[in-house]
Amino acid sequence: MKTAFKRIVVVGGGSAGWMAAAAFATAFPACSVQLVESEEIGIVGVGEATFPSIRHFHKLLGIDEAEFLRATNGTYKLGIEFRDWRERGERYFHTFGDIGGLSGPRSLWGQYRRVGDAGLGALDAQCLPSVMAREGRFMSAGSEEERQFNYAYHFDAVLYAAFLRKLAEGRGVRRIEGRIVQAPRRADGGIGNLVLADGRAVEGDLFVDCSGFASLLLGRALEERFVDFGRWLPVDRAWACPSERSGTALMPATRCTALEAGWAWRIPLSNRTGHGHVFASRYIDDDKAREQLLQQLDGAPIAEPRLLRFAAGHRERFWVHNVVALGLSSGFLEPLESTSIFLVQSGLGRLIELLMPGERPPKEAVDAYNTGMRRQFERIRDFIILHYCLTSRSDSQMWRDMASMELPETLAFKLHAWREAGALHQYDEEGFDATSWLAIHAGMGHWPQRADPSLLDLPHEDALRALRFRRDSIAAAVAAMPTHEAYLNSVLAR
Ligand SMILES: Cc1cc2nc3c(=O)[nH]c(=O)nc-3n(C[C@H](O)[C@H](O)[C@H](O)COP(=O)(O)OP(=O)(O)OC[C@H]3O[C@@H](n4cnc5c(N)ncnc54)[C@H](O)[C@@H]3O)c2cc1C
Repeated sequence: MKTAFKRIVVVGGGSAGWMAAAAFATAFPACSVQLVESEEIGIVGVGEATFPSIRHFHKLLGIDEAEFLRATNGTYKLGIEFRDWRERGERYFHTFGDIGGLSGPRSLWGQYRRVGDAGLGALDAQCLPSVMAREGRFMSAGSEEERQFNYAYHFDAVLYAAFLRKLAEGRGVRRIEGRIVQAPRRADGGIGNLVLADGRAVEGDLFVDCSGFASLLLGRALEERFVDFGRWLPVDRAWACPSERSGTALMPATRCTALEAGWAWRIPLSNRTGHGHVFASRYIDDDKAREQLLQQLDGAPIAEPRLLRFAAGHRERFWVHNVVALGLSSGFLEPLESTSIFLVQSGLGRLIELLMPGERPPKEAVDAYNTGMRRQFERIRDFIILHYCLTSRSDSQMWRDMASMELPETLAFKLHAWREAGALHQYDEEGFDATSWLAIHAGMGHWPQRADPSLLDLPHEDALRALRFRRDSIAAAVAAMPTHEAYLNSVLAR
């Protein structure tokens, strides 16, 4: 960078922009933080399911959970229920919880497989938050270790941006309303200032590009190449439509149902339900995809379905000269595992560590940032592909293609390690830990070819007794919990 940074300019006021503005205003009180957004352009307004790390982000910002849930019509999220992914009619959970030991004689999944007792039910029954999600129960007390699970939230994306805006403005962020029409470059290649449609110029040292799919600075002005993941992740469009809440219990989980050429999400908020159909336009046309979405609604629609277009992938570098992109302007992986807001948070955490107000960030810091973010996108890409490539469905061209696609090498190696040795290999910069990988393998019925001989160290009867005990203890604990709705109402009343 030409100058040390003291003036931060955030471009865009969606979730990414206001998350960035709030975080920078909190972390760097000596810097000026300005945010430019255009009401005329608006925000993408989807992105309602999150990842547990959001709670850490809120803690750093000093956000009170009850206040946040009230302001955003938020609900609790224990994970995701996947329906029809391996075969139609099957379902499983990927929740943020413990499924016992992962290797050796105490490996819970290993003993479960070895015992092979049909009376035990699904492996999900050994995981506390999966049973809570299935039964519509929720409560949170004690630390994550004590609870044996972690959780995230569902919220209204438009209300979330407004909530963060209030917080950020309260910490000194200055909002500038206006449409950016030009971003002239300096002699060193960086951005000099932003020119608005009414002729005003906005000066800054560090520009944080949160301009959504437009990618105004990193994509358009700096022309950073887009790395396309479309050959592995073909979904490229989505219809989104909220519906009235149905009479059913408020589920503390997102639901993702596999359809003919994509999948449908169902996100329960306290006042409505968010629905969407993410689909691959090479396999289905927009009208048919819209029809399939409307069939998924479990209440009357409360808005016209909106069509969104996107590509899976990311900019080759995320930080170039004095521009760092966060959110959709930096890249997007389809929303199957709700990872976009997590990636914004991950980028912000790294930036806050690397940036020192008044100092020029060394080239090594910029390179480390770019490498770390690129790897994290790749790790999450592999995790998402896993959900598709293990399918046994052959009822449509998309599913046949997904089952036979050539995998990225990084994922192919992980599948090999699992099949041959029951090893849940982890690289650096993983977005999902080994337990999450296990949840998908198990849910998709994908097991190692050979059992670990050390499992036999535990007598068969002892293993069976331990599994029954765990299953029954979980069932009893869940039966004593309040419903999600009752617990949420008690928090909202605080
Ligand atoms: C179908 C779909 C489903 C998704 N579901 C999830 C999910 O469940 N969980 C999750 O974590 N993420 C999800 N995402 C991603 C999530 O929506 C985004 O990561 C998140 O909303 C952040 O968006 P953003 O702030 O980057 O962009 P936006 O919300 O689009 O904001 C862009 C901002 O830039 C401004 N802007 C653009 N051009 C200009 C200009 N010329 N001048 C001035 N301002 C300008 C706009 O006005 C706006 O304020 C989903 C995305 C899609 C497409």
